[in-house]
Amino acid sequence: MPQPAFARLIEPHRPSAADILERRWIYIPYDRYTDRTGPLTEQTAGQTGIVIVESTAKALRRPYHKKKLIVLISNMRHFALEQAARGVKVLYHFSPESHGQALRKLQAEQKLPPLTVMVPAERELRLDLASAEAAGLQLRYVPDTTWASTTRDFLDTYGAYKTGKSYVMDRFYRRMRQNSGVLMANAKPIGGQFSFDAENRNPYKGQIPIPDPPSFPPDAITEEVIALVEATYGHHFGTSANFALPCTQADCDRMWKFALEHLLPTFGPYEDAMRDDHAQLFHSKTSVILNLGRILAIDLIHDVEAAAQAGQIPLASAEGFIRQLLGWREFMRHLHEQTDGYRLLAGSIPQEPRKVVQEVSPNQTEQAAHAYDLPGANADPYAGATPSALGASLPLPAVYWGVKSGLYCMDTVVAEVVDEGWSHHITRLMVLSNLANLCGFSPRELTDWFWFAYVDAYDWVVETNVLGMATYADGGLTATKPYVSGAAYINRMSNFCGKCQYDPKKALGPGSCPFTSLYWTFLERNEAVLSGNFRMQMPYNTLRKKKPDELVQLRARAEEAIAHLQSFPRPEY
Ligand SMILES: Cc1cc2nc3c(=O)[nH]c(=O)nc-3n(C[C@H](O)[C@H](O)[C@H](O)COP(=O)(O)OP(=O)(O)OC[C@H]3O[C@@H](n4cnc5c(N)ncnc54)[C@H](O)[C@@H]3O)c2cc1C
Ligand code: SF4
Repeated sequence: MPQPAFARLIEPHRPSAADILERRWIYIPYDRYTDRTGPLTEQTAGQTGIVIVESTAKALRRPYHKKKLIVLISNMRHFALEQAARGVKVLYHFSPESHGQALRKLQAEQKLPPLTVMVPAERELRLDLASAEAAGLQLRYVPDTTWASTTRDFLDTYGAYKTGKSYVMDRFYRRMRQNSGVLMANAKPIGGQFSFDAENRNPYKGQIPIPDPPSFPPDAITEEVIALVEATYGHHFGTSANFALPCTQADCDRMWKFALEHLLPTFGPYEDAMRDDHAQLFHSKTSVILNLGRILAIDLIHDVEAAAQAGQIPLASAEGFIRQLLGWREFMRHLHEQTDGYRLLAGSIPQEPRKVVQEVSPNQTEQAAHAYDLPGANADPYAGATPSALGASLPLPAVYWGVKSGLYCMDTVVAEVVDEGWSHHITRLMVLSNLANLCGFSPRELTDWFWFAYVDAYDWVVETNVLGMATYADGGLTATKPYVSGAAYINRMSNFCGKCQYDPKKALGPGSCPFTSLYWTFLERNEAVLSGNFRMQMPYNTLRKKKPDELVQLRARAEEAIAHLQSFPRPEY
């Protein structure tokens, strides 16, 4: 459904027949709004045309958070207008179909030449385009230069993916520091060590004030998108109320500038802290615009490095932030690509064998053939990867949809996600995923929930983080041990427990916190798989000292807690 005001604004920038013939035509995927790198930088605006597809089929694919759809579509529209303003011709196409099918029809109708496209970040889009290519769409793939590393960097670190192989992110991060020279002097890490993680684990108790981040109230274009989302995707997860995310290039840059100057200097020490009165703390909240291509990881890394060198950001904070971007973010996307989105793991839905992705050298021209094979005819390429190394399979309960459970930590974080489509790393890991692990909720269901509930979720980052880091469903491919804890960790790192009906110090009896009994029964349940893990020795030693009677009571308390969570009906989407 075309939108009147935006449609009117973009209409004058449609190409003529001569533009179609004379310009280089580039397809801009829904997550690559940049003219700071890639094909848009390679010729003048007057020689360039872009194709953008606003696809209803894609937006309806899962019940994406309303704010995710708003930030994505509004950035898409603003990017189209920004490019038009500099003289680029824009074919902005509204379609009920998938991106690939819409492009195929548009190319035939408009007699467009083969479209240049950066190799898509999302596996789902790669599959969609591949199937449209099989039906006649003509594309020319070029490397995606928005990434801060190449496939070669990853393969040089670990070699090609093999079943059963284990990856430790740190190896990749060290290599990237060495290759890039970031925070390095004379081939040695500045400060004498690659990671300052151990210094970054303080709870926040008001030691220093938290700056108020800028807010970006909707302009007329965003208002129109909000109305569209309410009309077409009104049944989706979350709320569109109080939308304040950046949707123009200038606002995205302003968001990052604020984070660099006001949040990053104190990012490190409180990186793991959790608060109910300030969800963001010192986190940058930049993932949403990074994952849309509005700002580039390598620019952020260089900005932070320069600020550290100028003494504006302490080394531990700078290193902590750079490790997330140069390490974790890049590592996760490579792992996703190399494992075909975790579909090559043992225990996943069987798929036809496929080639691993080959590096497209930056020197190769756009004639380079891309390396994605169509999956076999008898495999469903879109079926979710379903590893579950710990055999977790219970359905995800209603608390993840905002039904109050009485667990203050869960209710608080989920309410934040319903409102904003965002919460920071530790709440994702040590509250939402921790509870799922302890109870044995399905890692796939949890992944799908994160995928639609978060504004920054895309397959390459959400599947790896949830199936790998957060749930250990991949059996240790990504994390050396499961990230699980009882109430003690949440109590130490947050102000949640003081407001809860449960007592974090009590494992049994009336008012006892369910996290603790769930923790011990998690260890018991998974003893065969985990007790040999050297990083799990301490908890297993403590478990073994527990008396049989106490274990019986812990099991009963844990069962009661799971039954309570499962007792609320879950909203259907
Ligand atoms: C269960 C779970 C699900 C997650 N799902 C997503 C997701 O869908 N999308 C997403 O971008 N991140 C995801 N992450 C990683 C991380 O939690 C978010 O990137 C981060 O919280 C975003 O907030 P921020 O921009 O304030 O990050 P900051 O704390 O300011 O960190 C800076 C940047 O580092 C990058 N980063 C940090 N950790 C990771 C990581 N583990 N993987 C990839 N990038 C990382 C992000 O781009 C982030 O913007 C997930 C983590 C967990 C444990
Ligand atoms: S007491 Fe337990 S349930 Fe309550 S907030 Fe703390 S960890 Fe969460």
